[in-house]
Amino acid sequence: MAGNTVGVLALQGDFDAHIKALQKLGASCQEVRRESELDSISGLVIPGGESTALLRLADKELISKLLNRVVDGLPVLATCAGLILLAKEVLNPQQNSLGVIDVSVERNGYGRQVDSFIDPALAWTKEGRLLIQDRLPEQSTENTEGVFIRAPRIKDLGPGVEVLIARDTEPVFVRQKNILASSFHPELAKGQSVVHKLFLSFVRDNESSQD
Ligand code: GLN
Repeated sequence: MAGNTVGVLALQGDFDAHIKALQKLGASCQEVRRESELDSISGLVIPGGESTALLRLADKELISKLLNRVVDGLPVLATCAGLILLAKEVLNPQQNSLGVIDVSVERNGYGRQVDSFIDPALAWTKEGRLLIQDRLPEQSTENTEGVFIRAPRIKDLGPGVEVLIARDTEPVFVRQKNILASSFHPELAKGQSVVHKLFLSFVRDNESSQD
């Protein structure tokens, strides 16, 4: 049975910043390191960090339960290395991934650490604005700050993937059913994170469907 808690994968990377961003919005969080900790959550955040390290640190049982729950509809927010972990194809170099979101990503596609940057005003697409109006009617769709740190570049996406935020026509925040994924770090943006608010709206729906 699902509880009222958001799990945050805490194997490495900036899981703490996600927990703070979620708590600011009133969510209760649980760090997830083991397979059994995936049972009692109503949503999962897969944070940025280093995707090779995530792959190394996640054991088979954790990956297999995570895949089951995601395929089963668990709301997921995957950011940066999290997006790389879930992508269908990873380039630069090629790397194993879980293949649950139909995108092809190029690791470090915006350059190296020294090329990291903040875009102060990422714009929501029409689809993104419609989704916000539908799920968070009180929320304005003002532009969102995007912190890009050795970020993956989304090179290609399948027909089931919606683009919610684009930067110079390039997708940087996408959705495929229950999965939201960004190439930037919404947890590091100033103020409250609209990306996390949107994710929590999916978590709430998931909770009420389990009641
Ligand atoms: N470049 C990292 C990777 O390939 C991702 C960086 C990040 O999560 N900020 O995994």
